[in-house]
Order: sequence, then structure tokens, then C-alpha cells
Amino acid sequence: HAKRGGRDDFRVYKHSMTSEAHEVMSKSSGLKRALINNELFVVYQPQYDTFSGRIFGAEALVRWNHPSKGILRPAEFLDVAEQTGIIVDLDDYVFNLIFEDLLEWIEQGAIDDDFKISVNFSGRKLFSEQLLQHLTERHEQAPTISQRITLELTERDMITNIEQCQQSIEQIKQLGFKIAIDDFGTGYSSLATLKHLPVDVLKLDRSFISGLGDDSVDYVIIESILSIAKGLNLQAIAEGVETDLQLQSLKDIGCDAAQGYYLSYPIDKEELLQLLAEQKAG
Ligand code: C2E
Ligand code: MG
Ligand code: MG
Ligand code: MG
Repeated sequence: HAKRGGRDDFRVYKHSMTSEAHEVMSKSSGLKRALINNELFVVYQPQYDTFSGRIFGAEALVRWNHPSKGILRPAEFLDVAEQTGIIVDLDDYVFNLIFEDLLEWIEQGAIDDDFKISVNFSGRKLFSEQLLQHLTERHEQAPTISQRITLELTERDMITNIEQCQQSIEQIKQLGFKIAIDDFGTGYSSLATLKHLPVDVLKLDRSFISGLGDDSVDYVIIESILSIAKGLNLQAIAEGVETDLQLQSLKDIGCDAAQGYYLSYPIDKEELLQLLAEQKAG
């Protein structure tokens, strides 16, 4: 019986390996096709001033309009994109989308002078020559746009090669772009990241926000992060605000910037422009 069980296990194992490899292959060729056929697009999650309620920016989040599977979220394809290196082209592609949107919105007078877009980047990308070249070209094309774009990176990505990262970040900042640490506080080296890297924005990870209201530890953690942010003159944005209690707690602590489902889901650009128009109208 044991022997038979072993054989069955082996067969199951082998089968699952094969289907996993198949999945990666079909997803990676699917992604390559997606980049050519323009199947990728972004949704924008508005970022709010918690005190005035004003929208001061938005985070771009990639989506894949898959021809047979419908709209896919990053969790369903980013891993494969990173494993295969397609992420470099994917991030370039997304960057172009938001850059074109910004150019269009400025021309239409749809956004205020200080309105910013935040865009996620994979750490792999930070060290690629392709990124710096691309950012430099875009900067030369429209120098005033850079200051409206924040590149979001996770501390895990930043800390793996801090010296190289320091150089890249300095070059990127010289072009006028801003740098945010995404999911701040979830890495093992949050303070070291702050010490060594000249970032502009801290995005407080959702895991701290979700405890607000009933977990006093999260309260203290957020207060401390805010005080560090203030001391270093960085903007702090709370991520993943889902309830009114969380929003009120953030205001009590003095956090003036937030995004999350309670404030707005990620929306398409027409809806974002609608919100901004309503805001302008008062
Ligand atoms: P992230 O950058 O931390 O983005 C926040 C994620 O949380 C988004 O998921 C967003 O839809 C979701 N979210 C926003 N508010 C709430 C909330 O109140 N509650 C909960 N539970 N979730 C909320 P999404 O769009 O699925 O993106 C997941 C991750 O994929 C992002 O996390 C980011 O790391 C990555 N990503 C997204 N777009 C890109 C991209 O263009 N390039 C790269 N390299 N990564 C991207
Ligand atoms: Mg992000
Ligand atoms: Mg992230
Ligand atoms: Mg995040």
C-alpha cells in the first residue's frame, strides 16, 4: 500500500509540475502578446487629503484585459512577468500610459498644477539601464512632467543592493521624479532604507491601517512612522483605508494623506476626470 501511495504521489507531483510550467509558459507568451496588442491598461486609485477631502493625486494600477479570461489583476500575472523578465517591458509600457495620460490631462486643463501620479515599479527594473534611458528621454520630451510622477518601489527591492539603488535613485531624482517606498514597514530594514536612500514619500502599509480602532500597537506604529516622516520631511500616505473609523483614527494621529476602498476604489480614467471636474466645480 505504501509503495502504491508513493507512486501515486509521484504521479500527482509530476502532473502538477507540468501544469505549473505550462501555466508559466502560456502566461508569458500571453503577456508578450498583451504588450503588442495593447491588452494592458491602468486604473487609477485617487489619493485624498484626509482633512480637506481634496484629491491630490492617484496611483496607477495595471490591469490585463485578457481575451478569454476577462480582466486580470496583477496578482495573476506579475510573478510570471518578474520570473521571465517581461516586467521590464511591462513597467515601461505602464509608464508610457500614465505619461500620455498626464500630457493629455494637462493639455485639457483637467488637473491642478500639483496633481501627481504614482506608478509602481518592480525592483528588477530599478537597476536596468533601460529605465534610466527611458526616464531621461521622457524628461527631455516634457521636462515639467517629471515632478508630477512618483515611482513606487518596495523596501525589499531597494535594500537588496543599497549602493546601486542609491545611485539610481539619485539619478532618477535629478530628472525631477519623486520616489516612494511602497508597503512601508513590512520589510526587515525600514529604518536602514530611510537612512541610506533619499526618498520623498512613505506609503504606510495596509496591514497597519487595518488594525486602527482596535489594535493599540498599530496606532503607536503609525504615530512613530508619521513622526519620522515629519522629521525627515517626507510625505506619508496611508494605504488601504477601508472604514470610517480607520479614516478618523488617521486624522486623530495627524495623517493628512490616504487612499483605500473607503475613499475610492481604483477607477478608470474617465471616472477619475469626472471626480476631478466635480472637485473643481466645488
Ligand atoms: P500596491 O502598490 O501596494 O497597491 C495597492 C493594492 O491594494 C492594489 O491592488 C489596490 O487595488 C489594493 N487596494 C487599494 N485600496 C485597498 C483597500 O482599501 N483594501 C484592500 N484590501 N486593497 C486595497 P492591485 O491593483 O491588485 O495591485 C497589487 C500590487 O501589484 C500593487 O500593490 C503593486 O505592488 C503591484 N502593481 C500594480 N500595478 C503595477 C505595475 O504597473 N507595475 C508593477 N511592477 N507592479 C504593479
Ligand atoms: Mg503601490
Ligand atoms: Mg506594491
Ligand atoms: Mg502598497
